Amino acid sequence: MKPALTPLEDWTRRKLGLAAGQPVTRAELSQWWLMRLRQTLAWAREHSPFYRWRLRGLPDIPLNTPEDLARLPFTTAEDLRREHRGMLCTSQGEVARIVTLRSSGTTAEPKRLYFSQEDLELTLDFFHHGMSTLTGPGKTVLILLPGSTPDSVGDLLARALGRLGARGVVHGPVKDPARTLEVMAREEVSCLVGVPTQVLALARHPKGAELPPGQVQSVLLTTDHVPRAIRRAVGAVWGCRVYSHYGMTELGLGGAVECAAQDGCHLRAADLYCEVVDPRDGRPLPPGQLGELVFSTLTRRAMPLIRYRSGDLGRLREEVCACGSWLPRLDDLRGRVAGLAVLAPGLSLSLAELDEVVFATAGVLDFRARLTRRGGAWSLGLCLRATAETGPEVASAVRAALERKPVIQRARQQGVLVLEPVGLGGADWFSDLGAKRAIVVQRS
Ligand SMILES: [Zn+2]
Repeated sequence: MKPALTPLEDWTRRKLGLAAGQPVTRAELSQWWLMRLRQTLAWAREHSPFYRWRLRGLPDIPLNTPEDLARLPFTTAEDLRREHRGMLCTSQGEVARIVTLRSSGTTAEPKRLYFSQEDLELTLDFFHHGMSTLTGPGKTVLILLPGSTPDSVGDLLARALGRLGARGVVHGPVKDPARTLEVMAREEVSCLVGVPTQVLALARHPKGAELPPGQVQSVLLTTDHVPRAIRRAVGAVWGCRVYSHYGMTELGLGGAVECAAQDGCHLRAADLYCEVVDPRDGRPLPPGQLGELVFSTLTRRAMPLIRYRSGDLGRLREEVCACGSWLPRLDDLRGRVAGLAVLAPGLSLSLAELDEVVFATAGVLDFRARLTRRGGAWSLGLCLRATAETGPEVASAVRAALERKPVIQRARQQGVLVLEPVGLGGADWFSDLGAKRAIVVQRS
């Protein structure tokens, strides 16, 4: 017996206008991408002064295969800061939502994104079908994401769950884990959607283990890089399946989500085309190599993005998944390109690598990392936040785990890295180094 199509596969197949029954083939995907990329280019050139200028001098239809897109220039975060008005392809009257994204701790102009009602509907539709892997009719899903304004991520997700026959309760970010756990018990929540460190705070809270066994069946971690160590910790406490989702506002919030095989996130391939490029020079990389993810939207009306450099590191896998789907998978998602600290030529340290070490240590809830240049070497400082029940020995446990990490061993042997004692508590670290998780690099 052939495996049934996954919900995402089935949805993609219908969006591509293909008959039900068989998984979408590579050839069908390529054909769809080519057609939609051509349409998107034509739409953007006709309606956006920015793209008309950016794509000037290029032949009218330069695409013979989707890969030919690599001949076109990139769109960048800087463009979203400076040129957003010129990128708009519809009248202001057709804009249903404007999202303003400020980078914490900078005075840079915010990025702005415009969405039409049709664009928001695409997101709702993706959430509806993407979530059907995790939950179903009659279930209650607690949404630990902002949702108080109409068409915000939490609001869209709650509405999408309604279409699925599930009940989406918008809770917002976790501020007091004990209270959130009370809500989970009272509302008989069987599925959570939230940011990795916030869900970890619930799982590692003493009340987290007091929920009835089997109540929490699935968890979707999103918004930030998803460390494997957090997935394991959350899954171990509740005995649930932990899935990850990759997305950003620029992609219409949703980008890629795991199937039951949990071996990479399947791309929302009817709406997005993804390339992987060398973050240093923008050169396209062959399939399977780690690089910067670059996205083009295929169905967005108000503000299409053409070759948008996401600033995120990952790998694109194109071989068939254990679930039977050919939808490409994003894998090895390692967070921001900018989060990669180069210690010496050929030797770099990422926040994602530190995450795996630090979150694997029992009792840790969050941490901040700082690299300071002193003389000819880097000095790595770490400060932890841990549960109230955790003693000071957690700091030495993390330090010992860091010492065993091969990249850190190599850097110390080469004399380019010094490990500072690991701190605990340090409220100043958490306020000074900002809310955004990153390795903060100080050159003084
Ligand atoms: Zn799969």
